[in-house]
Formats: sequence, C-alpha cells, structure tokens
Amino acid sequence: MTEFPISGFREKETPFYYYDISLLKKTLDTIKRTSAYPGFKVHYALKANSNPELLRIISSYGLGADTVSAGEIRTAVDTGFPAAKIAFAGVGKTDAEIELAIKYGIGAMNVESLPELENIRDIACRLDICANVAIRVNPEIDAHTHHYITTGLAENKFGTLECDLEPMLRIIKDCDRLNFTGFHFHIGSQITTMEPFRILCERINKLQEKYSDMEIPTLNVGGGLGIDYDDPDLNPIPDFKGYFDTFARYLRLRPGQELHFELGRSIVAQCGSLISRVLYVKEGHQKKFVILDAGMTALIRPALYQAYHRIDNLTSESDKKAEYDVVGPICESSDTFGENIILPLTHRGDIIAIRSAGAYGETMASTYNSRPLPQTMFFDNF
Ligand SMILES: *Cc1c(COP(=O)(O)O)cnc(C)c1O
Repeated sequence: MTEFPISGFREKETPFYYYDISLLKKTLDTIKRTSAYPGFKVHYALKANSNPELLRIISSYGLGADTVSAGEIRTAVDTGFPAAKIAFAGVGKTDAEIELAIKYGIGAMNVESLPELENIRDIACRLDICANVAIRVNPEIDAHTHHYITTGLAENKFGTLECDLEPMLRIIKDCDRLNFTGFHFHIGSQITTMEPFRILCERINKLQEKYSDMEIPTLNVGGGLGIDYDDPDLNPIPDFKGYFDTFARYLRLRPGQELHFELGRSIVAQCGSLISRVLYVKEGHQKKFVILDAGMTALIRPALYQAYHRIDNLTSESDKKAEYDVVGPICESSDTFGENIILPLTHRGDIIAIRSAGAYGETMASTYNSRPLPQTMFFDNF
C-alpha cells in the first residue's frame, strides 16, 4: 500500500502530482525479472508520462523509448535513452519530425501508411542518410476496451491492413536508403485479460509464415497492458509475468529475432496520484458535493473517457461515512472526478488523493482558464 507523506502535503500548495518513486522502481524491477526471455526488449511509451525525473529513472533500467513527436524524441535523448533504442510512431509525422528522427539515427520509425513511407523515402534520399523503418500492421483485433482507446480494429485510422503491405514492402526493397527493421502492432490500451495478446500472437505467427522468405529482424507488439484502477493498493504492480509469459508461450520468434514491447500506462500509472485540497463541501438537496481545487485541467481522463479513478480522503479522521460527488472548479459539467463516492465525512481543507494518475495525467494537463500546470512532488523511501 502506498504511504503518503501527509505532513509534507499539508505544507505544499495544491494541486500537484505526487510520485512514489520506490513503487516505480519496484515496478521496473518486476519488468526486468519477468521479461528476461531471449530477444525480449521493453520500451517505455513517453506519452504516458514524460516527466524528466521519471524518465531518467526509467532509462537507467535499460528500457528503450517509444515516442510520438519530435519533442518526445528530444526529451528521450536528453533523459538518457540511446537513439538506437528509440522508436517513433504516429499517423501524422511532419517532414521536420521525420528529418529529425533520421538525423538522430533512431532505431525505428513505425510507418503507418503508403504516402507516409514515400515521404520518408524522399527525405532519407535527400539527406542521404539511411532511415530505419518498421511497418505498423493493423491486426484487426477487438481488444474489448473503451472504443476511444481501441486501435487495432479494421475501421480505425491506425496502421496498414495486411492486404495492403505488398506495395510498401516493395518500396523499401527498392530503396537503399530505407532499412526494414520489422513489423509493429498495437491493439489498444487498458487491456486486463491476456486473451487479446494471445490472439495477437497468433496473427503475428501467421504473418511470419506468409513472409517466411523475408528477413524480419524485429517484431514490436506495442503496449496496452492494463492496471487495476479499482484497487491500486491491492494491485500496485500489474501482471507483467502473465503478460510476458503469454508472448513467450504463444509467439514463435525466429532464431535471433527481437521482440519489442512499448508499455506506457502499466509502468507509471500506479506510482502517481493527483493531490488536491477540498475547497468547499456543498450540501445540495439530494447530493453533497466535494469541490476540489483540482479540475479537468490537472487530470482530464474522467472528463474525456469517463475514466474511473479511486478517490481517497487522506486527512479525515471521522469514522462516519457519506456519499459525495467529487468535482472540480471548472465551468463544465464533465469536470467531475466521481459520482456517489463513499468517503469518510469530508470537510474544507481535507487533502484528497486521486489515485492511479501517473499515466495520461500530468502529460494531458492544460492551462485552460489560465490555470497553472500542476506542480510535482517525488518521494523515495529507499
Ligand atoms: C499509446 C501507445 C503505447 C502505450 O500504450 P499503453 O496503453 O500506455 O501501454 C504503445 N505503443 C503505441 C503505438 C501507442 O500508441
């Protein structure tokens, strides 16, 4: 169970993100231990959280980086990720971003479409530098998660369908400034059963059989391993063993072939909480509202995806409980962190932790209403 340094919280201006560094390190230790299969290489998806302090710790464990913009590539290099271990993904890479990625000599650009590949070829030829390219294949798997975050279905914008691969492979073959590194997949996010990953393995096995005469140095299976938002104290570390074992068991790697993973949420979500103060408790006729000094500008996931985050009152000493809607100060009805939440009796000045907020929290914060971005606080009890 995460211990919160509550007396430190009381002195600090709220809202801020609090990161439990010892939990992050335990998580990274677990990943190291459970991914120790031949050829397995774990990358971290920076978009989940690109706080430099966290990135330096993650890079020190030898992970690679998955990036989606020039800014993330620069941040990854600046925080200790070697360029050769950086992948660059995204459906809309600009010419300037492609040029930067080629000049840095990053490990792979994950190409999503034919026109994008033609553009990368033209830029690599103009620069006269070899570009490492992987093709993102849409494996057409429904990962049974929220429709906004399912990315492997046939009708969405990500990747190339298997039937459209041939012309892309021909372009790569015909150009000596393009170096084919392999195939890339990503089926969605917050996936909490191993079944979609097992199906992905089977799709990849079939694809490898189809291209049995082609060299495929690397397979990249993306990210998407989910976490327990309901009970972060019971399950602070996701089921990495089940995850890596699934790939070890079902995916037939060729001799010497590398298998890359790009995990975001599962690495950083549980180590972060958004810490906020109760401004007012408003007693309505049917409902009681806890009004926080943090809103959707600090953590947008509930407003954007109806995401659930556990909410804890860290300072109430009451044995009595009551039901509250926990809301932010912003003039949008979606600015709500939870409805009908049972908390100990809550008062103005209490400190509230919104849990499991280390992923897609700080990185998605905005300055809407001219509010400042949330500060951060780190705690390492080792
Ligand atoms: C978002 C994303 C990831 C990371 O996803 P998580 O669900 O945070 O693990 C990995 N790869 C790609 C291509 C992505 O778009």
